[in-house]
Amino acid sequence: MTATADTPPANGNPPAAPPGAGEFDLIARHFRPLAAREAGALSLLDDAALLELPPGASLVAAADAMVAGIHFLPDDPPALVARKLLRVNLSDMAAMGAEPRFYLLTVSLPADTPERWVADFAAGLAADQAAFGVTLVGGDTTRTTGPIALSLTILGQQERGRALLRAGARAGDEIWVSGTIGDGALGLLALTGGLDALPAEARGALVQRYHLPEPRVALGRRLVGIATACQDVSDGLVADLGHICRASRLAAEIEAEAVPLSPAAEAALAADPSLLARILTGGDDYELLFAAAPTAGESLRAIGAALGLRLTPIGRMVGALAPDAASPVRVRRADGSVLVLERGGWAHF
Ligand code: ADP
Ligand code: MG
Repeated sequence: MTATADTPPANGNPPAAPPGAGEFDLIARHFRPLAAREAGALSLLDDAALLELPPGASLVAAADAMVAGIHFLPDDPPALVARKLLRVNLSDMAAMGAEPRFYLLTVSLPADTPERWVADFAAGLAADQAAFGVTLVGGDTTRTTGPIALSLTILGQQERGRALLRAGARAGDEIWVSGTIGDGALGLLALTGGLDALPAEARGALVQRYHLPEPRVALGRRLVGIATACQDVSDGLVADLGHICRASRLAAEIEAEAVPLSPAAEAALAADPSLLARILTGGDDYELLFAAAPTAGESLRAIGAALGLRLTPIGRMVGALAPDAASPVRVRRADGSVLVLERGGWAHF
């Protein structure tokens, strides 16, 4: 049945206000250029995109949303917001070992959003599309009475049966992490008034890591066939390692002092040793955390050298997960003590 001006839609809701020409103009001016490289996007002029994958490829799909006031501040630079939105999704592709290809974008904007905001947002997307080889292929644009809300769906491809899953780690596997850990959480702390004794340069480095994560897409591709389990660090190192443990039905043990830190995080920790818990449990790192057989060490060192990316072994997968364990992850200190995560807090024993 077709709803006309006289007949309400079959779902019984009042008819939505017709989109103003402004919305189509916004799409044409700011989003259509981002779809130019992919013929299957049909210039964003049809009802849906029409995409081809090579034979034998699985479609890998993930989505992440960001809302002003919750995931970013309303006056954050729109280009940075756009790049972070795309990058957190790219990080999910990296964690699967997938090759990102396309994305769909839904933007819900308050009526008073300046067009400048949309233009800057699109410019941020353009920069990272070029950097990561992905193309916008569709989406939706709506008004909202609430704050700016953004949702991005990323589509990638992976040779069938080759994706990096969270399950698959084996007892005795080494646990590795890329890059450095804790910068995102410390950057957020700096942005919200903490770390004020830290030199401006170190604070700036941490804030930069929070605003603009570096999705490890190239690393993820190279870990296919090597990592036995993998995920990206978004909730915090210990919590995310817990996800691998539960999926693989194993416990894990890591050495706190082995966790790689940036010079800025080292400086912050030296000034305030209690920041260790925040470094190990804070989120927003978007590094890859993975398990691999001890025999893979040499290949991993070669991959790290080829990519110019630090890869660090931080512990190992140990025996079966005890059903009554408070946490599947044990964090050892150099002095032999053990930190145990208990309901979000830390206790020494
Ligand atoms: P519908 O009426 O089905 O919601 P629209 O008129 O909203 O369709 O969208 C028309 C075309 O514009 C579609 O191809 C859609 O994918 C595309 N589109 C709308 N908003 C966006 C956006 N924010 N980014 C990319 N493409 C968009
Ligand atoms: Mg629409």
